[in-house]
Amino acid sequence: MLQKTGNGKSQAVLVAGGAGFVGSHLCDALLARGKRVVCVDSYITGSVENVRPLMNHPNFRLIEQDICDLAEMNEPLHQIYNLACAASPPQYQADPIHTMMTCVAGTGNLLKLAEEHGASFLQASTSEVYGDPAEHPQREDYRGNVSCTGPRACYDEGKRAAEALCFDMLRAGAVSARVARIFNTYGPRMQPSDGRIISNLLVQAISGEPLTIYGTGEQTRSFCFVSDLVSGLMSLMDIEPNPGMPVNLGNPGEFTINELAEMVLAIVPTASKIVYRPLPQDDPQRRRPDILRARELLGWEPKVPLAEGLQQTAAWFSAALAPHETHAIPASSTPTGSAGEIRGSV
Ligand code: UDP
Repeated sequence: MLQKTGNGKSQAVLVAGGAGFVGSHLCDALLARGKRVVCVDSYITGSVENVRPLMNHPNFRLIEQDICDLAEMNEPLHQIYNLACAASPPQYQADPIHTMMTCVAGTGNLLKLAEEHGASFLQASTSEVYGDPAEHPQREDYRGNVSCTGPRACYDEGKRAAEALCFDMLRAGAVSARVARIFNTYGPRMQPSDGRIISNLLVQAISGEPLTIYGTGEQTRSFCFVSDLVSGLMSLMDIEPNPGMPVNLGNPGEFTINELAEMVLAIVPTASKIVYRPLPQDDPQRRRPDILRARELLGWEPKVPLAEGLQQTAAWFSAALAPHETHAIPASSTPTGSAGEIRGSV
């Protein structure tokens, strides 16, 4: 049921980064639950294509805005999700200073907005707060092994600082802030060119290009399908009382990059072969979430196995990359309209 304000207008949910890969799926799910959604995106890595099907939805409003410049919102909000930040290593390293400022100044702006509106707040944090972990699997009480000077620091340390801001606001009684530590996530609407492993391997296999594996390919990751992640995010936002602690959200299935490449080759009909390339600096060797806390607090666990999620994602990329496909996902696009805003028609 929609929450009503004093004047009868229903309060909205703000999704910062709502035109991104995860954010657009979150907008879909919130609208499906009858929420009003204000989607804010800078289109640095998000794309208006991801939310185009929502444009005529009466409960959807889209605003082009960088959260670093966001000072106010002219309608009542009861929840704010902060998913606004480049998340792929090549993309967050492309403008590292902006990445850091998005995490710190941008999150600070959204927290201030949450305080003004009395809105609950969910911060999309990351498994990268654990860095190259010395403990395995990663539990939330592990404090991590992060370089504060390396090329990943803009994101890892930025997200750590954002968590600190959230917990300071929570301790101060200013905002009901919640923190989700999101592990590698994949699914339809990933940008073909975003540089992450699943999008790279699928796009390479579909296009008949060599599959690039960095290092030996024996490093591991755990991959969560986007619909599972979105249900975990909404559960964490809605749970009362506020858990007051970060919660890992990810799929605990752990795969080497070599195993992942073999799965892609088994799913996509292709003549592509694997090639090995140098491992990027500070690339974590192992990563797997301990999700006991999410299970106990939220009753949440992922449902979609990797093989099934990969099939769906491969089918989506095949359609998006097909020649003559007009709704293929552009790397970036901006909406029309001088105010930088598109409203769902009523
Ligand atoms: N990787 C790879 N080939 C690629 C892209 C990534 O072998 O074309 C590796 C990368 O070095 C890392 C893992 O795959 O060990 C996951 O990388 P991704 O960029 O998806 O995210 P990360 O978990 O490192 O943030």
